[in-house]
Amino acid sequence: MALIVQKYGGTSVADPERIRNVARRVVETVDAGHQVAVVVSAMAGETNQLVELARDLGGAEPDPREYDVLVSTGEQKTIALLAMAIQGLGRQARSFTGGQLGLRTDTAHTKARIRSIDSERLLAVLRGGSVGVIAGFQGVDDEGNITTLGRGGSDTSAVAVACALEADVCEIYTDVDGVFTTDPNMVPGARMLERVSFEEMLEMASLGAKVLQTRSVKFAMRYGVPIHVRSSFHHGEGTWVLPEEEVMEKLMVSGVTYNRDEAKIRVVGVKDAPGVAGGLLLPFSEAGIVVDMIVQNVSQDGTTDLTFTVPRRDYPAALELARRAATQSGARDVEGDDRIAKVSVVGMGMKDHAGVAARMFQVLGEEGINIQLISTSEIKISVVIEEKYTELAVRALHAAFVEGGAEAPTEER
Ligand code: ADP
Ligand code: ASP
Ligand code: MG
Repeated sequence: MALIVQKYGGTSVADPERIRNVARRVVETVDAGHQVAVVVSAMAGETNQLVELARDLGGAEPDPREYDVLVSTGEQKTIALLAMAIQGLGRQARSFTGGQLGLRTDTAHTKARIRSIDSERLLAVLRGGSVGVIAGFQGVDDEGNITTLGRGGSDTSAVAVACALEADVCEIYTDVDGVFTTDPNMVPGARMLERVSFEEMLEMASLGAKVLQTRSVKFAMRYGVPIHVRSSFHHGEGTWVLPEEEVMEKLMVSGVTYNRDEAKIRVVGVKDAPGVAGGLLLPFSEAGIVVDMIVQNVSQDGTTDLTFTVPRRDYPAALELARRAATQSGARDVEGDDRIAKVSVVGMGMKDHAGVAARMFQVLGEEGINIQLISTSEIKISVVIEEKYTELAVRALHAAFVEGGAEAPTEER
């Protein structure tokens, strides 16, 4: 007997028939002799609708506490419906909101972090032969305020529950067959990976592959809980996300990702002196705006340009902050662009292969795509390009590195 946590995303619970289908899959697992805790998202499109409603009545920046009270309701609906559907199949089930589960978070509304889970109540329900049906995406802070974990947060809820229960596996059921070499909804030639390491998955998720929320991968990696990504529509094997040593195949490039959620800001004519860059960026961290790629040009005449990216939703506020900081530090000008995309190639094999970057830039050059910013780590290379070329860039890089199997020149040869 295993203890299994299953998570079903929005498309998997989009209507009553699909909820019945999920109930059947849960019951199959129970009938195979396992204890099952199920984490569910809101029905497809529901969270988006709630976010729109919040903006309609609460303006561009609705009160964060009330926003969380509202957007968390989508999951409250699906847990009750799924519990009923499981009961309809003659099995016991009990739903839990984040608060009822004792899923404690910090107070950072709309992007709260999980602090602890009181697993005893849930374990008692599972031991009693019931299925626990848990609302993803939500928790409560120490004062009992409802909090949410950021978009896509049900993945993180599921992995956190799996860690707290010391589950054997966390199964993520979604609308694609597993983790692919790139978004299968954009590139028909995308290939499903049988196994992918936590490290690669972490990079792919944080660089835009939204099949798993980044934080869920971090959690699973820290506690060593295997993630199994599968389709909720059939019984295909899907993808295992595992420690590096359990992944035999070391592809040079295992994934091509894109992210259209960032914007770029350039501060022109910044004095090139110690402490200036720090002074410029400090207001961003104080405002809770995460600065991602940062590039400083070579200094000319004692001044330089500082370019960085921020989440697109923070772009207006970030531009304002940059203008203020620029005036204070005597910089010449501030320019911004929110029509950019970050395209990346990720792969463990890059550690041992030279020349991936050169090949990547060559492929983009052949397509006439200009590279605006570059950043690299041991297992990834990212570039910022004009947003309108996203699909072209992803397809060309996927064709070159994955479909065509183009190899970079290696030291060993
Ligand atoms: P859910 O509602 O089940 O949480 P999401 O929409 O959050 O599902 O994530 C699944 C989607 O992630 C897929 O429909 C696919 O378009 C997208 N995706 C992007 N990159 C990848 C990738 N490398 N592998 C699989 N899916 C990906
Ligand atoms: N319902 C939430 C969202 O749409 C959480 C999730 O689906 O993971 O972002
Ligand atoms: Mg998701």
